[in-house]
Amino acid sequence: MTLSRPFHQTPGDYLAAEAPDEPVLFLSPEVLQATAHRFLDGFPGLVTYAVKANPAEAVLENLIAAGITGFDVASPSEIALVRTLAPRAALHYNNPVRSRAEVATAVGQDVASCSVDCAGELAKLAEGGFPRGREVAVRFKLPVAGGAYDFGEKFGASPKDAADLLAQVVRMGYRPALTFHPGTQCTDPEAWAVYIHRARDIAWAAGVTLERLNVGGGFPARRMRGATPQLEAIFEAIARATRAAFGGDAPALVCEPGRAMVAEAVSLAVRVKAIRPDGSVFLNDGIYGALAEQPVMGMTDRLRVLGPDGAPRQGAATARRLWGPTCDSLDRIPGEVALPADLAEGDYLLVDGMGAYSTAIVTRFNGYGGLRLATVRVLGAA
Ligand SMILES: *Cc1c(COP(=O)(O)O)cnc(C)c1O
Repeated sequence: MTLSRPFHQTPGDYLAAEAPDEPVLFLSPEVLQATAHRFLDGFPGLVTYAVKANPAEAVLENLIAAGITGFDVASPSEIALVRTLAPRAALHYNNPVRSRAEVATAVGQDVASCSVDCAGELAKLAEGGFPRGREVAVRFKLPVAGGAYDFGEKFGASPKDAADLLAQVVRMGYRPALTFHPGTQCTDPEAWAVYIHRARDIAWAAGVTLERLNVGGGFPARRMRGATPQLEAIFEAIARATRAAFGGDAPALVCEPGRAMVAEAVSLAVRVKAIRPDGSVFLNDGIYGALAEQPVMGMTDRLRVLGPDGAPRQGAATARRLWGPTCDSLDRIPGEVALPADLAEGDYLLVDGMGAYSTAIVTRFNGYGGLRLATVRVLGAA
């Protein structure tokens, strides 16, 4: 993905001028930096960015410019990427399963913090020379609902095992922290509160004073027109629960938002390749491209249709089936999507709130997936 040179005011201006036949991701640096400031001003602790949500250099550069100094990384290539753009950034390597070669990278690249969720992974860190005195965060899980899907199935120790592991972290000379992830697109502030109280119980059971508590990502983005997530209410719930659980002995807090940091800063334009006589629509992007998450998360309704001249279509909403461009019949947007009745071949669907888990998980299946990235001043999101 490359950063295209022309600088346009809006996606409509760009589409009218360039008539792109491949999907375009429009990035608004203004929106991205405003979101970064919302976290930096509102979250009661250190804000790190989860690189996996969108590792585009333009995204990382704008976050660094806005004042983000810490990054949640999960692999050697994410580590290398952040190190080139921000050589002194604090790297939190929070993929709890690492090969020994990956541990060596963490050591060589001066990673500040590593998470673990079992004794075997802690032993690997120590044997690989991860320096004593660095932070090791024990990841724990609870059966808490609230996220769009559950991360606990893959990672995290039970509270009992987490307490044993935390005590071992201290015995081995590492700085003790706990971490959790409430599940992505978590809209319930109380989910964080439940985890924070259990973190206190785990630290108590281990006889350990926690230095830091990483409350994960999971902060929600606006996926539907009618639902505006209240990030500040979540920040407040986290601050309140930390005070209530730990009192004067509270650990420093860290968060690692991915989705909520970057989603709103990007709109995706996909083009109508054809409309069949039965009204079904073929697009130039689908579930193997930037729309990969839609079958898992449910299709967003934050859509606008622009004609090739960049002007919005105004026709009455009509339900359509939407197909992606590959020859695979699974490549379909779930359900039916309401689009203007005057929709025509060559039009663009502008999908808002598409910055997270879009470009990051695009495949080149069937030769598609070549996306453009364009920078615009204003997205004019619906
Ligand atoms: C994916 C991930 C995040 C970011 O999650 P979002 O739901 O995008 O905020 C944060 N931390 C860890 C450990 C992750 O795996």
